[in-house]
Amino acid sequence: MNINKNSLPENRYPIVEVSNVRKSYMLGDMEVPVLSGINLKIEKGELLAIMGPSGSGKSTLMNLIGCLDRPTEGQVLIWGKDLHSMSDEELAHLRGIEIGFVFQTFNLVPRLTALENVLLPTFANSRSIDPQKRATELLKLMGLQDRMYHKPGELSGGQSQRVSIARALINDPSILLADEPTGNLDSKTGSEILQIFMDLNNEGRTVVIVTHDPEIAKYADRVVLVKDGEIQYN
Ligand code: ADP
Ligand code: MG
Repeated sequence: MNINKNSLPENRYPIVEVSNVRKSYMLGDMEVPVLSGINLKIEKGELLAIMGPSGSGKSTLMNLIGCLDRPTEGQVLIWGKDLHSMSDEELAHLRGIEIGFVFQTFNLVPRLTALENVLLPTFANSRSIDPQKRATELLKLMGLQDRMYHKPGELSGGQSQRVSIARALINDPSILLADEPTGNLDSKTGSEILQIFMDLNNEGRTVVIVTHDPEIAKYADRVVLVKDGEIQYN
């Protein structure tokens, strides 16, 4: 299957369409249901905030949208293509070019510099003709021009999260997913990081963010609540 971005009929489909998705985890031979009957469409250019109590399944949903996991039942379509019909290899390729993921714990590689961390996703999949130049530009955009050759141990939490946002953007993904990106930061730094996501959205980037911060509700196009395994629309 050809999943080159240029061959995807972008305009006809939402970027992501989650239809009747159920997800359970197996604990030994016991099936533990987490999501039951999720339906969600994410349109190009949207800022979507996902809220809900701890343990309600927000990360499970983000991992499905981000192609890090597969649903137990139902469909996750990216640009109209069903993830279920893809091999692990195709899925990894799609994830590499279409999706940027930012995690609460930054997930930077400690022995690599900020610049090398940002370049990591370009080794498997790159859309950029000059990844080194783009990585440098992104780090500058994040205000880290004097931290490019520092390793994560020499960076603050806010700086580390900026590196991970630059890394998420390196392949110019269709959608940027952030799962509680400010959860490990103090509130001032957290607000600065939230502002980066809002700026990226204002520039046209599609952003889905899981957060407990009520500030985001003022700026988001939509806020959805995950509760009892379902989505509750406001
Ligand atoms: P949230 O992000 O909203 O806090 P999660 O999606 O992380 O919620 O978790 C939802 C539920 O699924 C929790 O009860 C959690 O313990 C369980 N869970 C999450 N990941 C796994 C896993 N890999 N294996 C088993 N149970 C899991
Ligand atoms: Mg979570």
